[in-house]
Amino acid sequence: MTGIVYKSTGSSYTVKTFDNQFFECRIKGKFRMKGIKSTNPLAVGDIVDFELDQTTDETIGQIHNIQDRKNYIVRKSVNLSKQTHIIASNIDIVFLLITINNPPTTTSFIDRFLVTAEAYGIEAILVFNKIDTYDEAMKEEQLFLEFVYSQIGYKCMKVSALGKEGIESLKNEMLGKVSMFSGHSGVGKSTLVNAMEPTLNLKTKVISEQSKQGQHTTTFAEMYDLSFDARIIDTPGIKGFGIVDMQPTEISDYFPEFFALKEQCKFNNCLHKEEPNCAVKKALDENKIAWSRYASYLKILEGDDDHYRQDLYNDDRVASDETRK
Ligand code: GDP
Ligand code: ZN
Repeated sequence: MTGIVYKSTGSSYTVKTFDNQFFECRIKGKFRMKGIKSTNPLAVGDIVDFELDQTTDETIGQIHNIQDRKNYIVRKSVNLSKQTHIIASNIDIVFLLITINNPPTTTSFIDRFLVTAEAYGIEAILVFNKIDTYDEAMKEEQLFLEFVYSQIGYKCMKVSALGKEGIESLKNEMLGKVSMFSGHSGVGKSTLVNAMEPTLNLKTKVISEQSKQGQHTTTFAEMYDLSFDARIIDTPGIKGFGIVDMQPTEISDYFPEFFALKEQCKFNNCLHKEEPNCAVKKALDENKIAWSRYASYLKILEGDDDHYRQDLYNDDRVASDETRK
């Protein structure tokens, strides 16, 4: 039988088959993933093959194979152990929720996120939330950002989760796909998901499950079916999108508008800094590339990512988890 992992508790997995049956499964023996040093062998979103073991009264599936992942996102330890935890896999689309000033979302945060999405190979859409609160200056700021990002090719949407504006177009983008929602704490992720699916109430569910188990240290990603042929992966405790290690020369490949010019740079390993005849710098001087994008690029290149790393987690729970060792 074949199915998708909807939930993982570390030792057992809830798998849903393509004919909509749920099974509790365990891993049969050990299997290793090629090239990934991760603390968990299976993650939510994985497509697995399993067999039912009916020697006991309880029907337990034995997972014997994991199908190739189209993509996966990881949480990396900030310490030196180089251990990664796979948060989720096979994600079709990720929505980055942005608010102009409540809380502020910086272009540096947006760009780091987009670079990561590009590196993971996951389509990203920018969703400006709380438009019901925008004054003229904020509207202008939003329009400017929309101009910058839609020129590069990123789809931008405007919604009000509270005022239930733009929700239908957002649902349309999610049809038939596995989605994730990201963004700073307080941008309105839970409100938005509740506006789309009032019965789901993610936050409530997470809290009640935690108190039921009496544990607060670990939270697991979980997949949910929505009523309109869409699925979302909820990642409680993780607000961001993981970190990908990148070589310096590789970073600009994840800025699509830089990548498009790369061939025209004099040097094929051009870092678009001080090199002569750099097509990216030329485009920047001609205002064909946004300065904010270039500034974000330099920040990533220089490894000035501390703020981004901190922003990834909504509290010190995960961070302290990682620094304890
Ligand atoms: P999360 O941390 O991203 O899940 O954010 P929440 O969904 O908890 O929202 C944070 C706060 O923003 C709450 O007080 C929400 O009521 C408020 N909020 C969310 N969406 C909107 C919106 O579209 N308009 C307004 N005015 N407030 C919103
Ligand atoms: Zn260059």
